[in-house]
Amino acid sequence: MVTVIDNIRVSVIGLDALSWGYLDKLIDKGCIPEIKSIIGKGFKYVLECFPPTTPPSWSSILTGVNPGKHGIFAFDYVDPETLEQKLYTAMDLEHPRIHEMLSMLSIKSIMINPIPGYPVVPISKSIIISHTILIPKPQCYPKSKEKYANMLAEVVRRKHGETCFETLEYHLKYVSVLREIVEKLACEEPWNFFSIILPIPDVILHKCEHDFLKETVPLEAKLFAEVDRLVKTLSQISDTVVLVSDHGFSYYRKLIRINDILAREGILETISKHGFEGALKEYKEVKAEFSGKHVSVDETFVDKFRSKAFYISKWNLGVYVRDPKVIPKVLKILNNVNGISWAKLRENVFWGPHVRKAPHIIVRPMFEKGFVQGDNKIKGVIYEEGLFKDHSPEGVFAVKTGNVKLLDNIKIPNYLVTPLIMSLMEAPLSNVSDGLNVLQKLFIEEKPKITFKNYIAKWRILKKLASKIGYR
Ligand SMILES: [Zn+2]
Repeated sequence: MVTVIDNIRVSVIGLDALSWGYLDKLIDKGCIPEIKSIIGKGFKYVLECFPPTTPPSWSSILTGVNPGKHGIFAFDYVDPETLEQKLYTAMDLEHPRIHEMLSMLSIKSIMINPIPGYPVVPISKSIIISHTILIPKPQCYPKSKEKYANMLAEVVRRKHGETCFETLEYHLKYVSVLREIVEKLACEEPWNFFSIILPIPDVILHKCEHDFLKETVPLEAKLFAEVDRLVKTLSQISDTVVLVSDHGFSYYRKLIRINDILAREGILETISKHGFEGALKEYKEVKAEFSGKHVSVDETFVDKFRSKAFYISKWNLGVYVRDPKVIPKVLKILNNVNGISWAKLRENVFWGPHVRKAPHIIVRPMFEKGFVQGDNKIKGVIYEEGLFKDHSPEGVFAVKTGNVKLLDNIKIPNYLVTPLIMSLMEAPLSNVSDGLNVLQKLFIEEKPKITFKNYIAKWRILKKLASKIGYR
C-alpha cells in the first residue's frame, strides 16, 4: 500500500549552470523579485555537482543516485569494443527520474525538458514535453498534448544566432513561449509534480563576453524577468517550490591539457591527418556530426587505436585506458600535476552496478584554485594561461516548503535533491537512493517516515517500450 499525500503540489525549476554568484547579481539588479522571495523564505544549499557536466549532473539530481547507479558519466563516451564515440541518451539511463518514479505511484507529473531529453520515455500519468539541441523537433507524450510541443517548435525553428545579443533574444522568446505552455498546462491539467529545466543561464554564459558576475546587459535582465514570471506562475499554485542547478559557472586562469601530459610521457600517440577514423573527436565534434553538420578542424588529434590511454573529451573528465598495465603510471603522473586535485580509479569515485561504464580514471582539476581542463587535442603545451570561463562544481539548490524545518546553508551532493523532494511528498524513495544519512540529518525536528520501493524493474520495461516506439 502506498500512502501519498496527493493533494499537495510540488514544482521544480531547473536553471542550467546557475551559480550563487550569478544569482546574487540578478537579485541585486532587481529583475527576479519572485525568485528573491523564494530564496529569502526557503532553505538554501550549495549543491555539490561532480562531474560538473550537464547530463550526469541532471541525471543525479533527477534520479537521486550517483552516476555509478544511473549510468551517465558525461555528454559522450567511448565504446569499449569499437572505440566509436557516442552520445549518452535516455536509453543509457539505468534508474528512473523523479517524474517517472512518481508516475509509477500514480502521482500525476508534468515534465518539461527532462535530461537526457531523447528519446521521450512514455509513462502513464505523465505529460512530457522535451526539447534538446540534439533533436530539433520538440517531442511530447502523450500525443494528445502535441499542441504544446508545437508551440515550442515554432520558436525552435527560428534557431538562435551566434552573438550574445542573438542568443539572449532567442532565449527571451523561448522562455516566453515556455511560460505560456506552463500557464496552460498548470491550469488545464491535473498535477502534483511539475518540473521544468531551462537551458539558461548556461548558453548565455558561454556566449556573452560581459563580466557575468558584475555586469548585466539589458536583454539579460529582461530574460530573467521572464524566467521570474514563469517561476511565479508555478510558485503561486504550489505548496513546495524548488530551484536547482546542475553546476555553477566560473572564471579560470589556467587550462590543463591532459592529453598533452600523457603524450609527453609516451602514453599516447598523435595523428594530424584530418578525417582518419582513429582520430579522437572532441564532444563538440561528435555533437555536430550527430546533428548532420561537418566540422573541419586543423589540429593534432589523439590516435585512439595506437594510444595506451587518453583523456576522452572536455567535461568528460575521464581517462580511457586501453592497456591496463599503464594505470598505475597514469595515476602517478596525473596526481603529480599542479592544478589537479586528484586522479582516481573510477571505483574510488562512483559506486553501484554501472561503474564499469565510466572511464577507467577520473580526474578533478583544482577548480577553486583557478584551474580547469582543456579540450582533448594536442597543442604541445601542458598549461594555457588566460581568462577562461566554464562550468564549476558548485550549483544552487533552494527549497521553499510548508512547516518542515530543514538544516541548511551547507553543501550537499546533487543526488540528494530527489530523495529530499520525495520525502517532503511522503512518497517511497528508491531502494537504491544515495545520501540517506545526510537526508536524515537535514530534517531538524520531525524525521520523515521513509519507506522504499524498487522502481528499476519497471523502468527497464518502460525503456524497452520506448526503444520500440522510436519517437523522433
Ligand atoms: Zn549544465
